[in-house]
Amino acid sequence: MSERPIPTVLLIEDEPEIRRFLRTTFPEHGFRIYEAVTGADGLVQAEARNPDLILLDLGLPDMDGVQIIKRLREWTPVPIIVLSVRDQEQTKVAALGLGADDYVTKPFGLNELLARMRATLRHTARAAVADSDPVFTTGDLRVDLGRRQVWVAEKEVHLTPIEYKLLTTLVKYAGKVVTHRQLLKEVWGPLHVDESHYLRVYMRQLRYKLEANPAHPRYLVTELGVGYRLKTE
Ligand code: CA
Repeated sequence: MSERPIPTVLLIEDEPEIRRFLRTTFPEHGFRIYEAVTGADGLVQAEARNPDLILLDLGLPDMDGVQIIKRLREWTPVPIIVLSVRDQEQTKVAALGLGADDYVTKPFGLNELLARMRATLRHTARAAVADSDPVFTTGDLRVDLGRRQVWVAEKEVHLTPIEYKLLTTLVKYAGKVVTHRQLLKEVWGPLHVDESHYLRVYMRQLRYKLEANPAHPRYLVTELGVGYRLKTE
């Protein structure tokens, strides 16, 4: 079996039972989970973790869930699934109007929630590659964006979620220089645009995994003082 980068989920939810339930079940279903108990912490973590998906409870102690969606949509298209209770019909409609992707009504079953999450992630992956080929190829390097698989010369390479995000961001701008700040913003989130050392560490790892000679990269090229470029052949 091949390993794929695990999607990360940020759960913003004040009910401890739901957090405990999802914390124990998500890993075995192929999701890494981060948790926030308040809206304020949720917003901070959304920037810090840059998750693949957000599960948002609309009834939080400190903030209106609708406000949280508004704030998130100012800077990120991350898919949001709203967790609502039955008497919040109006709020739910407002949430979808502001850019939430889907909603699940509490109490929900785990299978229903997982199905919604997978559908939302599939939809997002499709939308992201809608304008381009879902499989990117340059030289011996092949990135299947739909399946989240990476190959070098017919051998599948296992990447961590961050390494994969870094690579796919470069794929998105293939052939063009991507600045340090832009990579940091897209991979780690806007709170980390000055943390160039993250980029150096992860670029080194990525080269080690993808390049025949990491010291003289064929694909992941340094643009001195500016950023990096994924070379197209
Ligand atoms: Ca609540």
